[in-house]
Amino acid sequence: MNKNSSNIMALAPNTSNKRETVCIFGTGDFGRALGHKIIQSGYPVVFGSRNTQPSSLIPKDAEVLSHAEAAQKAAIIIIAIQRQHYNFLTPLAEILHGKVLVDVSNNLKINQYPESNAEYLAQLVPGTKVVKAFNTVSAWALQSGTLDASRQVFVCGDDMGAKQMVMDIVRALGLTPLDQGSLLAAQEIENYPLQLFPMWKFPILLSLGLTAFFFFYCLTRDIIYPYVYENKDFSFFIVISIPNRICPILALTLLALVYLPGVLAAIIQLYRGTKYHRFPDWLDKWMLCRKQLGLVALAFASLHVLYTLVIPIRSFVRWRLSSQIVSQALNNKTEPLNTTNAWLSDSYLALGILGFFLFVLLGITSLPSVSNNVNWREFRFVQSKLGYLTLILCTAHTLVYGGNRFLRPSSYRWYLPNAYMLSLIVPCIVLVVKFVLIFPCLDKPLTRIRQGWERNPQYSE
Ligand code: NAP
Repeated sequence: MNKNSSNIMALAPNTSNKRETVCIFGTGDFGRALGHKIIQSGYPVVFGSRNTQPSSLIPKDAEVLSHAEAAQKAAIIIIAIQRQHYNFLTPLAEILHGKVLVDVSNNLKINQYPESNAEYLAQLVPGTKVVKAFNTVSAWALQSGTLDASRQVFVCGDDMGAKQMVMDIVRALGLTPLDQGSLLAAQEIENYPLQLFPMWKFPILLSLGLTAFFFFYCLTRDIIYPYVYENKDFSFFIVISIPNRICPILALTLLALVYLPGVLAAIIQLYRGTKYHRFPDWLDKWMLCRKQLGLVALAFASLHVLYTLVIPIRSFVRWRLSSQIVSQALNNKTEPLNTTNAWLSDSYLALGILGFFLFVLLGITSLPSVSNNVNWREFRFVQSKLGYLTLILCTAHTLVYGGNRFLRPSSYRWYLPNAYMLSLIVPCIVLVVKFVLIFPCLDKPLTRIRQGWERNPQYSE
């Protein structure tokens, strides 16, 4: 490590007025955009290019020289060139010796090469200090100044002094450097911009699968069955009725799936008597995407609310209502108010409203800007206690909606129960198991295991 590393590690950026020249190899989109920003931050910039002719595209305060000439003018050289062209650097090895080379490159595919581009650069030009940085910042964001979404710049490298020089430039640009350690981290940093919603994959695939399943299920029960047996055409149910059946089912099932891994983890820990054994990989992955599962569930719940709001203006609903009124008038008979039904209907709506309100509250507290402002206990209280309360309210909303319908033979078409019954399976399992787990005979040993005590007497007090 550099003997001046203690000075180099100073937290404040280099504030001396005279900034050292920065050299950028490559006058492409990224090189120009970064050069422009670096000049604005007060650093002299010199470009190293194959073409030294003046161009209106290049920032006017920058010099454009050959690679060798430009490299001699600076201690730090940003390589804004694709990896496949790096071999032009080999003849420059002598000039580049001891200099800091900043690798900004990205690949087209995850793990495209056996080693990271930065490690390849370090092997290609030995004697240089290679630092990986800036690859997660886009040329467009640098140019347009819309850096809000990508203010963090991941930096890694084996030489602390070189890394500090790069981090000073990052800070001078108004960005936040995040030290990721040695050059071994470069592969991971290069993979970041290529990942496609890694935490969202499972929730989205699961919801797509469940949506397809419940769509065909409802299609069979609610459209094909009446068509076959009663010759009634309810095909228009596809537009609002079926989506409004699928959305609450998915919202409830996915919300229950947010809490199911916690319950499974508790059972595993109780069984093993320790928390110091790794969970199976699938459970680990499931736990990591609980926030995304919850947000997808909230999206389905919001859609259910919107679909429900349009029910009174639907042509089918207005027709059914007016037919009932006309039939009562023709029979000269008024249906008396059924207070039990009125109670059930109002309770069902009230539970739905309260459940949705808490659901939205959970969604809001999962936003980083909010969760960063609550302490660990507050966050746990909202996500666990209020979360379970939301699950209870939404499950009760569905149970009251069903009422005693599950007892009616008409609820089973081709032996298929009403779809809402299927949506109760996972939430009921989660709530029953959670209820059992709060019994002191299980809660006490579980708490002790989670506090680090082993159930094996050998390890306990
Ligand atoms: P680009 O527009 O294609 O520019 C690449 C530059 O490399 C060219 O302008 C050229 O500069 C130089 N070059 C091309 N072939 C060469 C060769 N055979 N020998 C020597 N130099 C050669 O690409 P870019 O978008 O600026 O990207 C440059 C690097 O930045 C890439 O590694 C990319 O992964 C990385 N990056 C880009 C972005 C982005 O938003 N564009 C974001 C993050 C990271 P001269 O004509 O001046 O020699």
